[in-house]
Amino acid sequence: MSATTGEGTSLFDGVGARLEAAARVADVSNDTLERLRLPQSVLKVSVPVRMDDGSLRTFPGYRVRYDATRGPTKGGIRFHPRVNTDEVQSLAFWMTFKCACLDLPFGGAKGGVTVDAKQLSLAELERLSRKYIDQIADAIGPDVDIPAPDMYTNAMVMGWMVDEYATIKRARIPAVITGKPLALGGSLGRETATADGAFHVLKTLRPKLLQAGGSPSGDGNAPSVAIQGFGNAGARMAELLAHAGYRVVAASDSTRAVRFDEGLDVAALREAKSSDGELPADAGEEIDPEELLELEVDVLIPAALEDVITPDNADRVRARSILEVANGPVAAEADETLAANGVTVIPDILANAGGVTVSYFEWVQNRGGLRWSAQEVSDRLEEQMIRETENVWKIASECEVSLRTAAYALGLERISEAVDATGSAEAYRNGR
Ligand code: NAD
Repeated sequence: MSATTGEGTSLFDGVGARLEAAARVADVSNDTLERLRLPQSVLKVSVPVRMDDGSLRTFPGYRVRYDATRGPTKGGIRFHPRVNTDEVQSLAFWMTFKCACLDLPFGGAKGGVTVDAKQLSLAELERLSRKYIDQIADAIGPDVDIPAPDMYTNAMVMGWMVDEYATIKRARIPAVITGKPLALGGSLGRETATADGAFHVLKTLRPKLLQAGGSPSGDGNAPSVAIQGFGNAGARMAELLAHAGYRVVAASDSTRAVRFDEGLDVAALREAKSSDGELPADAGEEIDPEELLELEVDVLIPAALEDVITPDNADRVRARSILEVANGPVAAEADETLAANGVTVIPDILANAGGVTVSYFEWVQNRGGLRWSAQEVSDRLEEQMIRETENVWKIASECEVSLRTAAYALGLERISEAVDATGSAEAYRNGR
């Protein structure tokens, strides 16, 4: 299956290959594959911002809804210089599968602004966030499309956005955005949900992988981990793993990468990162950030950007497994090399789905006027992540396919059920 967006952009260059592999395993109708060829809607807006020096700058903004068959669409908002139509479409496509894989009643979407948020003052960032919502307000809503944080956006940004939406609609509608501050209807556990979910996935798969003779190693040593991207998800993941007895031997952010084979002091790194905004150079040996991806570790955790493991470096990856906390860190063209080298990849649409799962809990609480305790959120998250990880594992073992193909197949079957229920293709085929 191939698809273009009509602009000559090949959206499925990467994701299409994975869909094709899943379609070979899943029980899926042709209607579904046809439906998934193109995004449902692609909105491109301009976001004019008055800068602190009095000048006006205009940034490109996007909101893509990929498929809404299973429910209102859901997906984060990213502020990053690399944001463009193709990236947002790909991320919206992944969200569609992530929500289906976790059996959440949502379709997939994504949004973003092409901007280097680090260069903006706080006031400029607020004006940008509010203006972006102003520009996409007609396309979102609690039953239509529900944004959330992603790279370089956070609860504070969501707070500005939900406040702006209230101004536009002249009504408080907290369920329109998730990942909000608690005081504005956010959920306990949302900030840590992505890493918490990834941790449940790893914990569920580790004994199975060990038993299957794969990774991580079971030689009695504390398993080693390298983490690319010491941000919201990566730093929390480091904390959970260190607490569970793993050795975090390397970590990186956009400024540097540090390595310490006995295990980095994760608490000190987190403290330095939150006070100085960057990893301290003296935490260990400073290494080339690229080298981090090639360390011989039990688990490599890319938790920053997409496409960091490509055909150019896949052959040099010596990790036993890769836990994809970032979205799309392994390029589709690198899948085969990694598989041939015995590297198990735990795919993003499962591994990082804890964030959207607690976003779903937040939406449920907002709509029901409820406040769940931290324990209730945590218990529900653990149950949902373990259940769907087991489902993915079952498909992978029964069909002898990769975890990625199994996760896509699980999502695809669920999307297909919904598409068939709306289209009644079977009834038409039977001539009724
Ligand atoms: P974040 O902005 O909090 O952190 C990103 C981190 O990556 C920062 O520490 C930054 O310094 C670092 N980074 C940027 N460029 C880098 C580079 N070239 N090399 C090494 N590090 C680099 O973002 P986050 O919320 O932690 O998200 C990280 C990834 O996880 C993204 O791919 C995002 O799509 C994915 N994700 C996040 C969530 C969520 O709820 N936060 C949910 C699902 C997926």
